[in-house]
Amino acid sequence: MYFLLIALLYNWYIASGDGFGQTAEIEYTKFKQQLTQGNVERIHVQGDQINGEFKSPQILNISGEDTLRSENFYTYIPSYGDNQLSAALEENDVTVSAEPESEYNWWYIALIILPILFFIYIGVMFYQRMQSQGQGFFNIGKSKAKLQQPEKQDTTFDDVAGLDNAKTELTEIIEFLKEPDRFKDIGAKLPKGLLMVGPPGTGKTLLARAAAGEADVPFFTITGSDFMEMFVGVGAKRVRDMFDKAKEASPSIIFIDELDSIGRRRGAGLGGGHDEREQTLNQLLSELDGFEPNESVVVMAATNRPDILDKALLRPGRFDRQIKVDMPKQKARLEILKIHAQDKPLQDDVDLEVIARSTPGFSGADLENLLNEASLYAGRNERKKIAMEDIDNARDKVMMGLKREGLQIDDKEREVLAYHEAGHALVAAILPHSDPIHKVTIIPRGKAMGATQQLPEKEKYLYNREYLLDRLAVIMGGRAAEDLIFETSTSGAQDDLKQVAKLSRKMVLEWGMSEKYKHISFGSAEEEVFLGRDMSRQREYSDSTARDIDEEVQKISREAFERAFSTIKENRDVLEKVAELLLDKEEIPGEEVDKLLNEKKQNTQEEKQKDEE
Ligand code: ADP
Ligand code: MG
Ligand code: ZN
Repeated sequence: MYFLLIALLYNWYIASGDGFGQTAEIEYTKFKQQLTQGNVERIHVQGDQINGEFKSPQILNISGEDTLRSENFYTYIPSYGDNQLSAALEENDVTVSAEPESEYNWWYIALIILPILFFIYIGVMFYQRMQSQGQGFFNIGKSKAKLQQPEKQDTTFDDVAGLDNAKTELTEIIEFLKEPDRFKDIGAKLPKGLLMVGPPGTGKTLLARAAAGEADVPFFTITGSDFMEMFVGVGAKRVRDMFDKAKEASPSIIFIDELDSIGRRRGAGLGGGHDEREQTLNQLLSELDGFEPNESVVVMAATNRPDILDKALLRPGRFDRQIKVDMPKQKARLEILKIHAQDKPLQDDVDLEVIARSTPGFSGADLENLLNEASLYAGRNERKKIAMEDIDNARDKVMMGLKREGLQIDDKEREVLAYHEAGHALVAAILPHSDPIHKVTIIPRGKAMGATQQLPEKEKYLYNREYLLDRLAVIMGGRAAEDLIFETSTSGAQDDLKQVAKLSRKMVLEWGMSEKYKHISFGSAEEEVFLGRDMSRQREYSDSTARDIDEEVQKISREAFERAFSTIKENRDVLEKVAELLLDKEEIPGEEVDKLLNEKKQNTQEEKQKDEE
């Protein structure tokens, strides 16, 4: 681009000559000729260049080919000089003007100007980008917090399902914001900072909006990551700005979403501190401290990582009130589904209760997404209403990812897959403490080539040892089936093995469930490595204990495999039937597995009776 500009500039200079287009270079001889013929009106001398004007226009030759009729010309005095020139000029009454030879060479100027132009160009691009992001260049540092007038905030608690505890906590503050004077008169002080803590998608942002809607006060919201600008000091200015505005508009609510992105522990983490973030955080802290107790501004914040927040944020007088926003349990899931199903037509066979039961681990956002995906499926199937089938499909997609249609699996691999899943299913169906099977499938989805879905009859808050041991065996069931039928192992059990390792480690280290170290905890089984925390944590036990622990973990895993193996070995005939069914239908409901098992039980009983007869 640089070179192009230089070329353009050069061309422009050449072409323009003396300002108007009708100028051409002529030979010095021709100039002298015209001069002696008395046809030169005036000349202007600059260095060795002569620009001039003829009395009557002349046909001028430019670069040999093009001809031009013009009265303007320029030419150069030869370097050896022409000492008769001035006499000839005077003789012919030519008006002469002159200026000193230009000190600047055009090229020289171009080289200076071009970089400047280039920077202006970059600046303009930058400006336009800032503009298009909805914040003017000159507004850097102005608060990005949007002032939302009360009438705009129409979210209320009715839009938030479950979260009853959180709502109760907020009610008090809402009352205060509605009638600050009544509370002030009796000497009540408003809690300053309120921190909502919970996993993503559980409705923290929603709850904050609803609080503002309920209180009917201005709501200033900003996301932590908005503060992260490229210029040091901007974030801090924004914070100051937002607090000023909110105070002016009080009673009001300030909501800082994703607080962890500014509130991360200072001076910690990989790669050293982050100046900008620390300044912003310091500003936030000082704003929180600088509040007068009689100012009716509530600062709410949300995070899903309270563990990495700077301790200073949680001190009394700052975010000292925490509201826990939990993953929804079955009842709350039902309520969330009801809210989001309001504007969606459902077929009669859709039972929200069943969906709520079959979606443990789904957040509010997941459930909303589930219904949305279901309506997309319904649309694709040209249905006017959402059917249960659509919801089932959507659930698989939300849980496991998209179906991988184009995947070419050869027959042998499909067979291994079928036996693997049949192994999981059979162990789950037989062991007494395991969750019932929802369905078994060998349709590849997302990362998984197949899956055995289990659904707890009711949500568990505690896991006992028997349940966990059965669970481990179920996870090992896939591998065990491969071993029994094909007498080999495949890489397909990778995730299973990972899960087993994780769970058995937790049992030994955290839950005191090993034989050797019953009822003893060794701290966390998970290696938490994240930015902002000490990289290595001290282990709290000796090397020999560590070796024992490893042994216990291995023992639990090994025994899980052996249980799974012997379970399916005893029922090899059923395993084969389940696998064949899977190969045939690709996906079977859990009841089918139970049915096959029951058939076998009946058969053996009949045989026994016959034997006894
Ligand atoms: P968070 O801020 O906790 O990550 P959000 O408040 O952004 O979660 O929730 C995302 C969406 O999920 C919300 O807009 C809402 O539609 C839905 N949602 C989440 N929790 C609930 C809930 N308890 N009741 C109703 N809808 C919910
Ligand atoms: Mg949020
Ligand atoms: Zn498996």
